[in-house]
Amino acid sequence: MWRDPLIENEDRDTLVAMRIFFTVLLCCHLAAAAGATHEPESEKVSGADVFLITIDTLRADHVHCYGYDRIQTPALDLLAQQGIRFTQAFTPSPITNSSHVSIMTGLLPSSHGVSDFGIPLAAKYPTLAALLAKGGYHGAAFLGAVILDSKNLAPGLDRGFEFYDNFPELATTQSRWGRLERRAMEVERRAESWLSSHQTGEHFVWLHFYDPHDPYEPPPPYSEVYKDRLYDGEIAYADSALNRFLTYLKNQGWYEGATIVVVGDHGEGLGEHHEDTHGIFLYDSTTRVPLIIKLPKESQAGRTVDGQVRTIDIMPTILNLLGMAAPPNLDGDSLEPLLTGVPSTPARFSVKRNTRCGLDGPRCARFDRKASSLSKRQSRSSTISAPIPVNRTTITSLGMARFKNCAKRSRSGAPNRLRRNLRSGRYPREPSMNCTPSGI
Ligand SMILES: [Zn+2]
Repeated sequence: MWRDPLIENEDRDTLVAMRIFFTVLLCCHLAAAAGATHEPESEKVSGADVFLITIDTLRADHVHCYGYDRIQTPALDLLAQQGIRFTQAFTPSPITNSSHVSIMTGLLPSSHGVSDFGIPLAAKYPTLAALLAKGGYHGAAFLGAVILDSKNLAPGLDRGFEFYDNFPELATTQSRWGRLERRAMEVERRAESWLSSHQTGEHFVWLHFYDPHDPYEPPPPYSEVYKDRLYDGEIAYADSALNRFLTYLKNQGWYEGATIVVVGDHGEGLGEHHEDTHGIFLYDSTTRVPLIIKLPKESQAGRTVDGQVRTIDIMPTILNLLGMAAPPNLDGDSLEPLLTGVPSTPARFSVKRNTRCGLDGPRCARFDRKASSLSKRQSRSSTISAPIPVNRTTITSLGMARFKNCAKRSRSGAPNRLRRNLRSGRYPREPSMNCTPSGI
């Protein structure tokens, strides 16, 4: 596609100016923090806030602005209109805490090592929150599910946050609401409350909306409007909470100057490839997610990027936009060139020699014949220069463990055949996959 070089240059200039602005802002903040102990806290400066919203279990192809016309997602649509929408964004893991650690560290699961629940994130891996805190940012995280609680299932994920909204250690209710899960509106309300009492300085605030995760139980009116498609109802409800948060930012005068990133942590099988939920296979159904980045002053509004990107690119992108150095040896790359329309280069998608399949699920265990031939190419070179094959028959090691449990429970023995076929690289079409356990 032909592009006007003048417009391209203007785009570049806009981003360069943004980076200079953020860098100066950061220097001023650090200088103030170092030397002006008796000065009042600086006025809140519009333009430096970063808001990250992760929507759990969100398939890209179930969002209106991604072409799904059976749902209303006006908040996501608005951000896509005023920001940059990535049409081919992929997560390296279909498991919630592993995926979120990758977002926060810019590392693949095979690098950061958090391949299952409860595995601590090693202190040697800096998080986005910790790096921004060094730059003077006030960080806060608001969780929609206990599976990201840093006291038990996601140790280390709270590193760098001033406030991390864990769940109560002692349950006061038998209901899962408030004990295991918070609805998106409650997450949003808690984030609003914290922001309203922390008005000054620059913020990095992360909201985690868990609602589209199974079981699908959207509140009214979404339970009625989408009564035949409750998964969609959960997405529409989560979008309404996002809309309320965006409205709050606008009312505070913070929206225009903020960088806002919305991303899914993984998708949902919905029965495709005989996977009802997620956590086992690495097909598009569970790995392709929506990713939208709204820049300050709606720079690059309405742009779509069709090149393949990864959720591990989010962390270096934010640091890059703020003029801050990313840690060395990240697996992710800054998407800044793509924000102005520079085509992606194949080298961005290189994978390491020892990565056994294109995507890097928690110790990805199997791949099909095509992926296998790709692996042979990898063995001749330390990297490959081709887009990562993301829709092959792959299964995570955690998924294989689940299949073993599934097979034990099965009377038909069909899952055993499934396992044999998986080992041989042939993927069967058997209805017995209904015993797929619930994803987490
Ligand atoms: Zn998740």
